[in-house]
Amino acid sequence: MNRREFLCLGAACLLGVADGQKIVEASYYEPMIYKRFFQFTEYEERPVTDALVIHHTGFPDVDKDSTAAAIHKFHQEERKWAGIGYHYLIRKDGMIEQGRRPRAIGAHALGHNKHSLGICLAGNFEIGKPTEAQMDSVKELCRWLCKKYGLDPMEKGVIVGHRDLNDTLCPGKNLYRRLGEIRRFCV
Ligand SMILES: [Zn+2]
Repeated sequence: MNRREFLCLGAACLLGVADGQKIVEASYYEPMIYKRFFQFTEYEERPVTDALVIHHTGFPDVDKDSTAAAIHKFHQEERKWAGIGYHYLIRKDGMIEQGRRPRAIGAHALGHNKHSLGICLAGNFEIGKPTEAQMDSVKELCRWLCKKYGLDPMEKGVIVGHRDLNDTLCPGKNLYRRLGEIRRFCV
């Protein structure tokens, strides 16, 4: 081995280690979540967390972006809930906004709010498709939440679509069929 080959080999090894560490550490990092500090009319802590429920906003006949602030206003004023029902909203550009406080009981899946987190992607995925930026964000978020709460993403009932729990089309066929991809990413 000449000196040049030795140096290349050394650099490759170093890169490999650095890359490996980065990947391992990254899976434990909280993704960038934009905190919104909404005011809620009630707050009750969730006793357990054993499921992540995936939703779409599902406005009728239109696949459009929404803000957490707009959903908060809608859920509070129209639905008369404590505030936004979802814990996280993922915008079309991939931005993750915090909705309800992470430890609070949400309002997103009837009969399952006391043990689950609600993650909503902006859009109507019966009509449109989630953007790749949204898919990247939902994968990162679910992977981090599985680590945080000690959940096995491949276990039945851990990462589910809203329609697995209630009589609804949510999160739309074009997102529902990609739930397996999300689960595998989280492993
Ligand atoms: Zn839903």
